[in-house]
Amino acid sequence: MKRPVTVLLCIVLLIAILGGCAARPLTQTDFLLDTTCSITVYDPADETALLLATDRVASDEQRWSRTIDSSDIALLNRGDLQTVSDDTAALLRTALDWSARTDGAFDITTAPLTDLWKAAEEQGHPPSQADIADTLTRVGFDHVTLDGNAVTLQNGTMIDLGAIAKGAIADRAAAVLRRQGCHSALIDLGGNIVAVGEKPDGSPFTVGIADPQSPDKLVATVLVTDGAVVTSGSYERGYRIGGIWYSHILDPKTGVPVQNDLLSVTVLAPRATDADALSTACFVMGYEKARAFVDALDSVEAVFVTTDGAVQATAGVQFAE
Ligand code: AMP
Ligand code: MG
Repeated sequence: MKRPVTVLLCIVLLIAILGGCAARPLTQTDFLLDTTCSITVYDPADETALLLATDRVASDEQRWSRTIDSSDIALLNRGDLQTVSDDTAALLRTALDWSARTDGAFDITTAPLTDLWKAAEEQGHPPSQADIADTLTRVGFDHVTLDGNAVTLQNGTMIDLGAIAKGAIADRAAAVLRRQGCHSALIDLGGNIVAVGEKPDGSPFTVGIADPQSPDKLVATVLVTDGAVVTSGSYERGYRIGGIWYSHILDPKTGVPVQNDLLSVTVLAPRATDADALSTACFVMGYEKARAFVDALDSVEAVFVTTDGAVQATAGVQFAE
């Protein structure tokens, strides 16, 4: 009779000791990158790692936001910078690579179009066909030349990393956490999510996909371990002109906000940099083309919400029960 009692006592003690050791996760939430950014460290719940990762997000924003006057991108756009840092060159290289591979559906030179549609919103009427055509002459990723770290922009071309920088910065924040020895964490930069490792209990992280027609509800929940989940959709941001809602994602070929059979695209990939570029590109392509494109890529999966409200997913997506 004595043995089971001893075993039971040991188990209770072990649970008490483990319970006492398991630190609560630490979360930091900030308004950065023009959105809500939160980082949670689970294991270890290390405050230094959390602060360093947050610092990385804030300092990368200073370099890559085109609306910050002293950023590399603003300087490039004004012609005040010709040679960029290794990090900026690497991001531009990845961005130009996705531009080519998506046949320009993703394009880092849409800035003049964004400005045109923003001005149209302020004036209360859509831009004229002539203004769109005129602006399109300044758009095209082939107007950007990257030779080592030297960047040349053709006259009037402006870079906007808005469709890839949040993903890239999420990857860089994840790298900071890993370097600090963190093996369980979740980074969410305005819907650009990176899971570092898995949850402390060994199960995958769960990431909800918002219902584009009712964003406080979810259409699905996906499982992710050590990877990225990034969503692009027209419900998040856009232009309201004459009572009509226009997407903030523009078709670089036509110069007009995307309007097709998609409400949102969520891309799962090892790196958020790629998932971010691809979710934007897929949104421009429309369901059929985007589905075929993702199906042909290794290690990339996607969840599409179409205008009829249906949820379509590529074969490798793992949904929570
Ligand atoms: P995302 O939310 O990642 O899909 O990125 C959208 C943002 O990227 C927009 O707010 C614009 O600043 C910029 N953008 C718009 N259309 C495109 C496009 N076709 N390719 C690349 N960037 C774009
Ligand atoms: Mg994107």
